[in-house]
Amino acid sequence: MQYITLSHQLEENSPVHFNLRKPKIVPNSQITKGDGYNSFIITAENHSGTHIDAPGHFIEGGKTISEYQPYELIYGNPLILDVRKGPNEIIELQDINEINLNHVDCLLFRTGFEVYHDEHPEKYLTQNPGISPEAVYWIRQNFQGIHCLGIDTISMSSYQNPEPGRQAHLNAFMDDEKLGKPLLLIEDMKLGSIKTEELDWVMVVPWQIKGIDSAPCTVIAKLS
Ligand SMILES: [Zn+2]
Repeated sequence: MQYITLSHQLEENSPVHFNLRKPKIVPNSQITKGDGYNSFIITAENHSGTHIDAPGHFIEGGKTISEYQPYELIYGNPLILDVRKGPNEIIELQDINEINLNHVDCLLFRTGFEVYHDEHPEKYLTQNPGISPEAVYWIRQNFQGIHCLGIDTISMSSYQNPEPGRQAHLNAFMDDEKLGKPLLLIEDMKLGSIKTEELDWVMVVPWQIKGIDSAPCTVIAKLS
């Protein structure tokens, strides 16, 4: 039995979208400078690093991450799906529509693009694979036991294809009785090379900040 994280540690040079401010992690009180204790001042946008998007990100009045209860963020039947994608490629409906996703509650797409997170951050930020709006819609239509999607790229939106990316987010978050509960989306995940059959459960712990749409998060997984 082993516990691991599927999230990156936030650093000042963590790759973040160009329209976001870089995180700042500044030593405040420091023992080495004669202070009685160590402390830091952290400044970060709520979509920095591994983070979880909730409906309030794209829909005014939509549920915010701070309104989710712990039981809604613990997934007993997670699946890592290997869908290898190169620069600017999109996870399309035909990549997934033969796969039986019954019993899955959290679907994590492993594109392999994570290798660029540290190696080539600019490529990671500007050429990331995304997911098509049709694929997201199909998941909601057919597998209402899935409550959360995750991806090992900076965003579900391909940087070079922002409009379908926006629509994919809207399809995840929109209220529609036919589609069950809106999805949550975890972006910028660290999926590494763990085997999906070893993945026992996943727990998402967002920063506990009242009123924000989405939040940086720690994703803890238990391996069997
Ligand atoms: Zn986001």
